[in-house]
Amino acid sequence: MDWSKRALEGQSFGDAELLSLLRPEVPLLPLLHEAFRVREHSFGRRVRVHILNNAQNARCPEDCGYCSQSKISDAPLQPYAWKPLPELLNEARRACDAGAFRYCMVASGRGPTTRQTDELAQIVRTIKKEVPVEICVSVGLLDDEKAQTLKDAGVNRLNHNLNTSESHYPKICSTHTYRDRVNTIMSAHRAGLETCSGMIMGMGESDADIIEVARELRKLEVPSIPVNFLIPIEGNPVVSDGSLTPERALRVLALFRLVNPRAELRAAGGREGHLRSMEGLALYPANSLFVEGYLTTRGREAQDTYRMIRDAGFEVERADGTIASWSELGLDDVFQVTGSADILKPEVRRAEL
Ligand code: SF4
Repeated sequence: MDWSKRALEGQSFGDAELLSLLRPEVPLLPLLHEAFRVREHSFGRRVRVHILNNAQNARCPEDCGYCSQSKISDAPLQPYAWKPLPELLNEARRACDAGAFRYCMVASGRGPTTRQTDELAQIVRTIKKEVPVEICVSVGLLDDEKAQTLKDAGVNRLNHNLNTSESHYPKICSTHTYRDRVNTIMSAHRAGLETCSGMIMGMGESDADIIEVARELRKLEVPSIPVNFLIPIEGNPVVSDGSLTPERALRVLALFRLVNPRAELRAAGGREGHLRSMEGLALYPANSLFVEGYLTTRGREAQDTYRMIRDAGFEVERADGTIASWSELGLDDVFQVTGSADILKPEVRRAEL
């Protein structure tokens, strides 16, 4: 198996090769090892931690079937307008103190108006002045002008996911197209914004769809790729298709790593529920995680995630490139376990027998 060598040389892989990665014919652990060698080349054992902030929660006029904020979802929603600046500033500070590399503000909707873009730009300027953290925003469709406004304000990165392949896209959304999404990524590129775009697994996509998205992101030269695992939310039209096992989730991450060797690859939304006890293995292909939950669902607490990162033998990278110490991340219990040795006493063993 010379996957890692070929990936690092920039070679592309054929359809049959990539399909085999998603199937048992390629053993999982050697595959993860190959993915790790590629990850290690650019990122060592470092993990970038992102904290998401749902800066605004509202019913959205779009009909993305996986989203509990869409107009067609019956999921309960507690709407609120854009959080006030002091609240966002505090949350950015808290994210930075909690070891976050990047603070991501997300708003629902098709895309911001010019006035909303200007307001967001002002928020970003203030946060950047006060808090040493990278800023990512995810605010829907943007044109060149709005992307430039955000770039000028100091936004580092724009998130806009492809979500699935072009041919599968009409099955998850009808109010905008895959091409609209690609165009937003192109606008961000032209404005000089870093781009972040990925996929949601578990929405009925085929293996070929997964390969198509991984390749499209390579073609678009997207440097940050979140791979999400659909969290089935009651009331949403698109719920899990039942395809996601921990092994499949790991294979998909390895595939994305080999196709996009230098991208920051994130085991993103839904990793806890879908990877379960295999979660630590996701760090072999991926070098980035969210902590403290997602837009409308809870995730793991930060310290549990840091403990998982530490136990798996990785380290947390700060926005300035330094490594955070475990004690500053709140892990003072260095590998301390508690338990009772009663089981070893002869009388206990006899009693159990
Ligand atoms: S555009 Fe965004 S907020 Fe609106 S339904 Fe789609 S994913 Fe949800």
